[in-house]
Amino acid sequence: MLNLWRKSFGQRAEMQAARFHLSVIRGTGQSGTCRSRFRTTALHTPSDTEVAIKVAAAAACALGRISVRPAATFGTLALAPGPPAVDSSSGVGSTTVVAAAAAAAAAATAAPLPLPGPPGVLVAYYADHWRVPLPPGHRFPMEKYAATHGSLEADPSLEGLVQLRAGPPVSMEDVTLVHEKAYVERFRCNRMTEPEMRNVGFPWSEQLVGRTFASCGGTVAAMHVVMQQGEGIAGNIAGGTHHAFRDRGEGFCIFNDIAVAANVAMRDYGLDSILVVDLDVHQGNGTADIFGKDPRVTTFDMFGDRNYPWKTRRTNTYDIPLPDDMGDEDYLGLLRSWLPRLLRDHRPQLIIFQAGVDALKGDSFGRLGLSRSGLLARNNLVYGTALEAGIPLVITMGGGYTRPMDASVSCHTDVYRTAAYRLSAWARARQKLQQR
Ligand SMILES: [Zn+2]
Repeated sequence: MLNLWRKSFGQRAEMQAARFHLSVIRGTGQSGTCRSRFRTTALHTPSDTEVAIKVAAAAACALGRISVRPAATFGTLALAPGPPAVDSSSGVGSTTVVAAAAAAAAAATAAPLPLPGPPGVLVAYYADHWRVPLPPGHRFPMEKYAATHGSLEADPSLEGLVQLRAGPPVSMEDVTLVHEKAYVERFRCNRMTEPEMRNVGFPWSEQLVGRTFASCGGTVAAMHVVMQQGEGIAGNIAGGTHHAFRDRGEGFCIFNDIAVAANVAMRDYGLDSILVVDLDVHQGNGTADIFGKDPRVTTFDMFGDRNYPWKTRRTNTYDIPLPDDMGDEDYLGLLRSWLPRLLRDHRPQLIIFQAGVDALKGDSFGRLGLSRSGLLARNNLVYGTALEAGIPLVITMGGGYTRPMDASVSCHTDVYRTAAYRLSAWARARQKLQQR
């Protein structure tokens, strides 16, 4: 039955050249195991949707008790156990199951997957449509997000190379793949204790909640963009909040967008090898902790050994602690030697880049000594590696704390500008090759 179903759905999908992700998850009573994944494009007509519903229903019956989850809905629909009432000639399941699947598909239209970008154009999300009030003299440069966004927008050399989009709020279903629901709710409803908020480092406000959801949602959306394209780069001019743990925030980080996006990618696209390249000057302790026991996610982290975190440091798959004042040459030599090895040993299907620029010499929270051009070379190394290997890459912003903030903002802007240049050159080169 399943083979027949797969075959007919596949053919239909090919004919439609559609983009629709349908995950069928076997309901084992424990956490769902991805049993099968079907990828096609969007369902353009009601009859396409109907086909998908019928296919899902047929699968439901064939597998017994399962959850059918059209990826676009971000809503899981649990189907009750029942006798497999499948008409194998038509592949249509029982009416009840069809009706339940129809309800899930109806919800799909409410939360569509983000559209992929035009070929060779960098899609970048931003979260600075939420302005977070901080007390005067607060040490976190919240304005750097809008400043980076603004300088990308104002750069005439980027005309037609970047598409900026407002980060959508992450859904509760996605964020709770990583974070404890009680923690998310406590934060959302301003019920966190004073010590909890002190650990985070921000005073609570509604804007902070809005921004935090949008920042995490931007990374998830960027992940969807590159996964649908199957290659290329997309970014979030926010996020990289790698100090957030499952049940608590720390160091200006509330939700771990990297971990959430990786988990959504594993759930929706069935990935089993994701590489996190964390080049922020601080160790990504939250990400390391979250993926400590998950063999599907490799975390590679180069950080200043004498930098925060000290007490809450965790073990990454690869920890590369660096001495104070390390300069461009040594740093780039290390990165250059590691990247090919990581690709060879782990064959990642997605790379998430924490592109913090606080390794810049003079950063007020960092202790390394990279120059702006060293960071630029760093970005190029990461982008070149991903593009040449055909691995989708998501950029998250991370730290950057020079005072005044201009030097950090220039380096943050470089991160996205370089990505846009590289992506467009790569797309043009490929087009030329195809025309030959
Ligand atoms: Zn940092």
